[in-house]
Amino acid sequence: MSTNLPEDTGGMLTVALAGLEGQLNEVLKETRRLRARVAALEEENQRLRAMILAAGEGESGRQQLVRLYNEGYHVCPPHFARVRGNEGCLFCQSFLEKKGLLPDG
Ligand SMILES: [Zn+2]
Repeated sequence: MSTNLPEDTGGMLTVALAGLEGQLNEVLKETRRLRARVAALEEENQRLRAMILAAGEGESGRQQLVRLYNEGYHVCPPHFARVRGNEGCLFCQSFLEKKGLLPDG
């Protein structure tokens, strides 16, 4: 190495660079994670749009709500259209019951 820096300064720089490299990797990892999340949300958004559009064709609003719920989305006002997964939601259930609808299972 043809550097004018004293030996220990070079060592410190190496350590600092390694630290920066590590941080950069973390940032890149986080960026990849966020990209994947955005892609998943866009996909879900498209799915919901498609469902809403398809809904105009024949299905009543009540049927749409039940379908949305049965496909794993919230239909309750506090969480509307968010992913429910396999978890039951008491808000959804009472919301559907109030409308005289009963979800599958
Ligand atoms: Zn809900």
